[in-house]
This record gives sequence, structure tokens and C-alpha cells, in this order.
Amino acid sequence: MPQKIIIDSDPGIDDMQAIFLALLSPELDVLGITTVFGNSGLENSTNNALRMIETAGRPDIPVAAGASRPLLLSPRVSSPTIHGADGAGNASDRLPAVKGKAIDKLAANFIIDTVMANPGEVILVPIGPITNIALAARLQPAIIDKVKAVVLMGGSAFVGGNASAAGEANLHNDPHAAKIVFEAGWPIVMAGLDVSHRWRQGEDYIDEIAVIGNPISDYMKEVLEFRREGIRRTGKPMGAPDLQAVGYLVAPEIFTTRRMPCYVETEGLSAGMTVVDQRDSGGVEGRSATVPEVEVILDVDGDRLRRLLVDRIKAFGK
Ligand code: CA
Repeated sequence: MPQKIIIDSDPGIDDMQAIFLALLSPELDVLGITTVFGNSGLENSTNNALRMIETAGRPDIPVAAGASRPLLLSPRVSSPTIHGADGAGNASDRLPAVKGKAIDKLAANFIIDTVMANPGEVILVPIGPITNIALAARLQPAIIDKVKAVVLMGGSAFVGGNASAAGEANLHNDPHAAKIVFEAGWPIVMAGLDVSHRWRQGEDYIDEIAVIGNPISDYMKEVLEFRREGIRRTGKPMGAPDLQAVGYLVAPEIFTTRRMPCYVETEGLSAGMTVVDQRDSGGVEGRSATVPEVEVILDVDGDRLRRLLVDRIKAFGK
């Protein structure tokens, strides 16, 4: 049986790659996509999700819109230089028109209803700010024991932040939501900046996808051209950690993880920072016994992940 997942996302160039990999993977059954603010505004997130399910021939997958701002913080400024003002590399005009509509149910309620209808079977895959997941956990705490796991993109164990010196962007954008999710008690796997730095995408990756020539590769080509500009501007290839969160669900054997206590800072300059306790005491006494443990993804065989995604894009429609 394929693994049932709900993707909670702010698409987003690396979200795009993650969502297409999920839709192309027989190992996964995408029960829905919930959307959140983040890389751009909520409306863009929702429209991009709707475009992608249409492009992948899966307009049956429900898209539920959620939070447009963090729990406590002021509305966030989006990142148009990284994802384009539209969250799609400023390529909206060249992408398929938005046909479908979000369902008439808020993201948190969709998550609650879906988990309650599939107890013990659903993995939540948040790859944006974790606001919707925190809201769902607060509205209906009964889901916490019924969620199989939360496999998220966010945080950083050993490599510092990106949105700030200490904070990775998803957690930095709503640190209070992150704290709720990390302390909830469900199993958590964290694909953060550590593994993001272990595989980066250069122009050769974009070129390889661009020549495939089907609706999904054509969509990705338009969006990834914006990333090409970023690579040239910064002189560096770029990470795609959202893709790694979904990749972990499809092929966990190509990832290296380590289990560590982990908590989230919410205030001041460290807001959104994930603090891991890496002391090895041989027991719990020397470690943070009251802090929940998280499975932190530290490394990936990037060549194999790239091959997996490219092969599945090539197989689309065949
Ligand atoms: Ca994202």
C-alpha cells in the first residue's frame, strides 16, 4: 500500500520539485495539499498548487488553503529574489492557467478530518512555515496520536540559519508554530539546512530537466530558469531541501539520519533556531531528557536523488 501523505506547502521553487516528485511516486498517495504563506503570499501558494496537480493529471487531489500569516508575528515579507514574486520564478504567464479551485474547507480542518478518517496512516509533510500543522494540533489534539509521523523541511542542527544567523526560514517565519509542532509528541523527521547543503542544484541539473519535453518538465523548465539566474547571480548552486523531505519518504535508504533531542527557540535574535543536544552520555541523564527527540537528516546521496527525480519525470505519461 502506498504511504498516505498530506503536503503542507508554500510553493515555491523547491516545493515545486517536491510536489512533482510526490505526484510521480507510486510509493506515495497524496491525500491533499494544504497551502500556507511563506515564499510568497497565500494566494500564490494556492494557485501554484492547483496548477501543479492539473499539470500532473491529478486535479482530483484536494487543495485546501490555510494560514496567510504566522500565529503571533506580523505578516512576513516574502522572498521574491529566491522564488519570484509569484512563487513560481515569475513564470506565471508562461505556465498553464489556474483551472481548479481550493476546496471549501480550511487547511487545518482538512488535516484534522483526513487524519481522523485514516488513523495511524497519514504522514504530514510540511515544507513551508508550520502554521497550519500547529493550528490543527491545537484545534484537535486527538490527531497527535493518530498522525503516523511529521516529515518536515525546516531547521538546522549544525550549520546555522539562512533567514537569520540562527533561524532557518520556515521556522523563522513562524517560530511559535514550530515550537507547538516540535513539542507535540508525534514522531518528527527533520530535513533542514544540514542536508540541504549536502546536495545543491546547478545549471547542469536545470539543463537535464529542460530537455525532457513533457508537461511536467516543461513546467519545471519555466520555473527553474529563474533559479538559473540566481545561480549566475550568486555564483553558487542552490539547495532544494523541500525535495529532500519528500525524497526521504520515497527512498529513505539514500539518506543518513541521527536521532537527537531538539527544541525550537521563539524569541529575539534566535527565533526559529533549532537547538539539538548532541552530547552522547550513553544514557539520557546527560542529555535533555525532557526534550523530545527528532530524527535529523544529515546527509543524502545527491546523485541518486537527482536520478530518481529525473527518471520519474521522464516516465510521466508513459
Ligand atoms: Ca517551501
